Amino acid sequence: MLILGGTTEAAALARALTDVEVVTSLAGRTRSPAALPGQVRIGGFGGAQGLAQYLDAEGIGALVDATHPFAARISANAAEAARLRPTPRLMLVRPEWTPQSGDRWTMVPGIPAASDAVPGGARAFLAIGRQDLAPFAGRADAWFLIRSVEPPDGPLPLHHSVITARGPFRVEDEAALLAEHRIDVLVAKNSGGDDAKLAAARRLGIPAVLVERPALPEGERVGTVEEAVRWVQALPRPRRGRGAGAEGNERQRRS
Ligand code: NAP
Repeated sequence: MLILGGTTEAAALARALTDVEVVTSLAGRTRSPAALPGQVRIGGFGGAQGLAQYLDAEGIGALVDATHPFAARISANAAEAARLRPTPRLMLVRPEWTPQSGDRWTMVPGIPAASDAVPGGARAFLAIGRQDLAPFAGRADAWFLIRSVEPPDGPLPLHHSVITARGPFRVEDEAALLAEHRIDVLVAKNSGGDDAKLAAARRLGIPAVLVERPALPEGERVGTVEEAVRWVQALPRPRRGRGAGAEGNERQRRS
């Protein structure tokens, strides 16, 4: 089983699949990723063709694409690779956030549009990770609080402050951060999952600019780790798995 990872859900799935040989693949963006059970491989495959070759060479029986909803290229590659080297493929995609009463959201189609949506003179909280900051580099007319797991290394806006932190975050702490930095607009991707920053913005009446998700490839899709586990459990097992099951049945019969 290959899990394309880099998310909380991918790690939870690897932990849940105790009776399956799991390899989790990470892109290598984070220098010190959290520990994972099973094997871990790090780095790109070299496009869809490279991934198809990897599936073949490693004898991968099934693939769960549990990458981040904004990691569009690897998901497209996974779809193409699973077509080139026929392999059962599931997408594990956490549900989108939807606005609640009190939310003041502006939905935008991409990061450049998010940059355009920040008003001049604003103090903005950029909670979009460190890889998509370039469109904000030209905004010398606003101030940005940038939060990422690791320090950004690309171009940054003229007026900014960087904090590094890894979630999950508590709503109270997010609200304190927004208040401390006198934030008047939050910028986030509609990633789904931990929504503490959005809850804090709602509580303080702060508007948010939310980047819409890129389109996903065609294919079977679930929204929770539990559903992904059931999908894996329903797959036909290779001979070795059936043997282990037979042994288990034998033990049950003896007891
Ligand atoms: P991306 O644009 O979709 O992928 C770019 C390239 O990185 C892919 O073509 C692939 O290289 C490699 N890659 C991506 N994910 C990989 C994985 N799990 N294992 C091996 N190679 C991978 O991806 P991204 O947006 O840069 O995100 C990179 C990773 O960070 C993903 O695994 C994602 O789950 C995680 N992440 C992304 C975000 C986000 O906002 N984008 C947020 C949190 C976590 P090759 O073509 O050479 O195979």
